Amino acid sequence: MLSRPDLGVPPHLGYTASTLDRAADRRRDAAAIAALEADPRARIHLLAGELVVLRKSAATIARAYPNPGGEDPAFTFAEGAALAPWRERMFLGLRDGAPRFAAGIDKEAAEALKSRGDLLVTDLRAIATGGLVAPEHLPPLAEAKAVLGWHARHRFCANCGTPSQPVDAGWRRDCPACGMQHFPRTDPVVIMLAIDGEYGLLGRSPRFAPNMWSCLAGFVEPGETLEEAVRRETREEAGIVCGRVAYFASQPWPFPMSLMVGCHTAAVTTEITVDRSEIEDARWFSRDEATAMLLRRHPAGLTVAHPVAIAHHIIRAWVEADRSLV
Ligand SMILES: [Zn+2]
Repeated sequence: MLSRPDLGVPPHLGYTASTLDRAADRRRDAAAIAALEADPRARIHLLAGELVVLRKSAATIARAYPNPGGEDPAFTFAEGAALAPWRERMFLGLRDGAPRFAAGIDKEAAEALKSRGDLLVTDLRAIATGGLVAPEHLPPLAEAKAVLGWHARHRFCANCGTPSQPVDAGWRRDCPACGMQHFPRTDPVVIMLAIDGEYGLLGRSPRFAPNMWSCLAGFVEPGETLEEAVRRETREEAGIVCGRVAYFASQPWPFPMSLMVGCHTAAVTTEITVDRSEIEDARWFSRDEATAMLLRRHPAGLTVAHPVAIAHHIIRAWVEADRSLV
């Protein structure tokens, strides 16, 4: 058995471990949904694209800077209605029996709320990486952002072009002309770490912060297995041929509506050829170097993806493993 570094308590993987019961059986029951909306315990999240409306904690207002974990994204229906007109509304589920909803509001309305001293209006990425809300709020916010974003981009029937109507508490759109039913979708993305013995393959996108490296990733294509997508993307982006693929974990990634499928894969070649149209760079990192990056102790200041993202966990699992993962 190899000795492995002790990285401490694993961080929470963002947007996962929802405490909401989605209560999907209620969605089609309009009377049940109306009763849930009228429940005094009902709360609603307000979102406009990337932006989420948060109520500042008293501590934040007093100190004039965000209070990690303390901002509140849940409003009563009366509070939410007073803040901005709602577009689509959706039922997210029940939390300890208390109904939770979300509504889309216009970008202009959200921007206008930024001037209020008691509210914080910012994007979901900043909320997650900054830890602005309690971790249990992130899964329903991800659920809301993905579905409300789908409504915003799917106002017309994809079959005949007629304006479609939301039904089933926001979980379907129906076309009044051709009868087609449209459901919110989620797009699978493979995200993987290719491993060659004591070395792992990381890449850099031009969009990344300076010095940050992460796993390679790409959308699964129609007619492709997850394993095939892992091998194809690694070969396309870095020229590395891979063999075995092992599933690690998955993560909802509502930017705009993906499911990240995390994997480890065994590299069978080592010579890198970077596709500069896809990524900025790729190279092999030793396990020791990756450990230093995870601990933010790398001598050159190199880091890996934030703990909110599954890439961090994929890399950490490899660094900590006392056996071959693939
Ligand atoms: Zn239609």
